Amino acid sequence: MKAEIIAVGSELLLGQIANTNARYLSERLAGLGIDVYWHTAVGDNANRLAEIFRVALSRSDLVILCGGLGPTKDDLTRETVAGVLGLPLQADRAWEERLETLFKKLGRRMTDNNRRQALVPLGARLLFNSQGTAPGLWIEHQGRSVVLLPGPPRELEAMFEREVEPRLAGRGGGAVIISRVLKVVGLGESAMEEAIADLIDSQSNPTLAPLARHTEVHLRLTAKAADRSAAEAMLSGLESRVRERLGPAIYGAGDETLAGAVAKLLLAGGWKLAVAESCTGGLLSHLLTNSPGISASFLLGAVVYSNAAKQDLLGVKPSLLREYGAVSEETARAMAENIRRRSGAGLSLAITGIAGPDGGTETKPVGLVYIALATPEGANCRRFNFFGTRETIKERAAAAALNMLRLYLLSNNR
Ligand code: ATP
Repeated sequence: MKAEIIAVGSELLLGQIANTNARYLSERLAGLGIDVYWHTAVGDNANRLAEIFRVALSRSDLVILCGGLGPTKDDLTRETVAGVLGLPLQADRAWEERLETLFKKLGRRMTDNNRRQALVPLGARLLFNSQGTAPGLWIEHQGRSVVLLPGPPRELEAMFEREVEPRLAGRGGGAVIISRVLKVVGLGESAMEEAIADLIDSQSNPTLAPLARHTEVHLRLTAKAADRSAAEAMLSGLESRVRERLGPAIYGAGDETLAGAVAKLLLAGGWKLAVAESCTGGLLSHLLTNSPGISASFLLGAVVYSNAAKQDLLGVKPSLLREYGAVSEETARAMAENIRRRSGAGLSLAITGIAGPDGGTETKPVGLVYIALATPEGANCRRFNFFGTRETIKERAAAAALNMLRLYLLSNNR
């Protein structure tokens, strides 16, 4: 079954709201094994809506329209769809009575516009709206199913789950489509693609698709099968092949975050951590403290932005700052070693760099960042050259620090 979603509303085209209804509907339809081939958004304009609806009818078995069922003049979906299908509109007496009762209870006068919400194209089935006043509609027409849902996500979701999903179950040819996301860090996008290029290219079911983020790459694995357990088995097969290739570069799956994965490892190993940050301005501490329970591990985070703070709070030697500069391997190491000693933590991280856009030189360009990890075995420092805006460089630096710590914990957890 081929499905298509048309979202109606000028605010979508003006960029005022994101089309989250289409995202929600696609996800639910995938779960039912129904292929969604097109998403369109159209403004509150009867001619353009009629045009795109005709196109949808010509190519899709199921057309879901959302939005434009309200009582105002610009809510045109009901009338336009009925017009294209050549169906006369009739008042549904039961829904009219429901509206009358509702308006009486609210102490408000019901207008003719409100009454429009009870108009139903001949032969259509009303879909109950448990959250609002506009009913949805289901129309079977010349082998096509047309479903009209309200725009507000709360109304749409409740209606879809209660009224639409049960009627669509089994229409996906008994198939289900499910996805899993694996999260990769520390490997450049091209290095990662190279490692799994054959898996990306050769797969049509299950499929493997990379999606690059600022600080990491997400790999979406999708399988279509007759039932959930068969699809899960296909995903597991593909997942183990990907894991074989990428190994510890995969830090987690699903909703897991890099900082969350690091927090889990810190807590599992019973480690105490301290952090000294310059150019990331506390971002690393912020990310780590997003994990509940991290107080058992996270002792201290210091933002030592100025040279004076590096000297006074951490005891970085003025001579070292003078000789090598604040952005140097020597300073990063001293920051990490000193905060480790002063806090009594087993592990510490330090970050110093140039986030830009100004302040770069030929030898120390914008994006140059040193990250040091101090451990019971000594301090290790890495030099990075990040690119991007000030904010992106901060995000990339914090992620690289988390990853250095993660890799240490993976091989040293007690
Ligand atoms: P109402 O009775 O509220 O007028 P309606 O069915 O006419 O309902 P719209 O007027 O098109 O729906 O949209 C109402 C609100 O629902 C919008 O202002 C917006 O906040 C939200 N909305 C509409 N379409 C979408 C969409 N595609 N994705 C996310 N939110 C949406």
